[in-house]
Amino acid sequence: MTLPTTSPTRSSGTAYRRVMLKISGEALMGDQGFGLHPPTVHRIAAEVKSVHDMGVEICMVIGGGNIFRGLAGSAQGMERTTADYMGMLATVMNALAMQSALEELGVFTRVISAIRMDEVAEPYIRRRAVRHLEKKRVCIFAAGTGNPYFTTDTAATLRANEMNCEAIFKGTKVDGVYDKDPVKHADAKRYENVSYDDVLAKRLGVMDASAIALARDNNLPIIVFSLDTPGGFRGILAGEGTYTRVQG
Ligand code: UDP
Repeated sequence: MTLPTTSPTRSSGTAYRRVMLKISGEALMGDQGFGLHPPTVHRIAAEVKSVHDMGVEICMVIGGGNIFRGLAGSAQGMERTTADYMGMLATVMNALAMQSALEELGVFTRVISAIRMDEVAEPYIRRRAVRHLEKKRVCIFAAGTGNPYFTTDTAATLRANEMNCEAIFKGTKVDGVYDKDPVKHADAKRYENVSYDDVLAKRLGVMDASAIALARDNNLPIIVFSLDTPGGFRGILAGEGTYTRVQG
């Protein structure tokens, strides 16, 4: 039985009704090398709004690597789990920045945190989050999975499954998955389609292995596309543009 609260509503001009957008924290830092670059946050918020305007229900997960990564902290002698909690808190800051930018554009949002901080964000309650989506609020899932030793790629895959998203859209600097780094190799070839198992076996670096395995086990497609192409996110939802589809 499918509960009515879990089925996304129809949208126009696209086959998708509910999607997860995953971006890294670094996508928000512009050319600064650290932290948040408000004009970049606004530019990405405008891309999200243009998809929201199509009637698509949008979940978002934003990483924290522009502020803090647990592994970097532990490499400098910090206790690993503490460093990971710091990384998770960094994602909350990014989520709040995105919330502010989206609301400035007139898009209603909720920041939903996997770690309780009631003054700042809602706690994660699955059915409540689904209701927000049905009411066309963009749900920004913050604080990762709430557990150390994970990444926000895994958090995005987990929440995408829980929210019954049809796909994860992974916004990156390049327009898909290549057989080698396209920035360093002019002859790098982009895959149109690639299987989860090939991504894992060839270490294609789309997402970390736990996230890919979780997507594979639930047959959740991952669409890798360039966040730097203006109108790219909307274009792909409308069936245009270049991207790589990771599926079974
Ligand atoms: N993190 C964690 N558990 C999670 C998600 C994230 O411990 O479920 C921590 C981890 O330290 C990670 C940091 O938060 O390095 C920032 O997330 P991530 O590295 O995924 O950010 P991104 O690379 O996407 O910017």
